Amino acid sequence: MGIKWLNNSFIASGDTLVLSELMVLQSAAGHYIGHLCKTIKCNCKDEHLGCIEPYDRLSGYMSYEQATKQLQTIRN
Ligand SMILES: [Zn+2]
Repeated sequence: MGIKWLNNSFIASGDTLVLSELMVLQSAAGHYIGHLCKTIKCNCKDEHLGCIEPYDRLSGYMSYEQATKQLQTIRN
């Protein structure tokens, strides 16, 4: 499944980031709803360009099915 990136970018710690749409994400603790972020411009000496990382978590941890259902509810 492709990741849909939002158009608005913002600067964090000198890097320019974009957020994904709200989506179901997976961690060791379970599935949750949140955003990913991608570095589209790296101004630090680390090579962050293109890095994709979890950005936030807006729900508790749950099963994939529960998270998918909850995301549908948020979107509708
Ligand atoms: Zn950087």
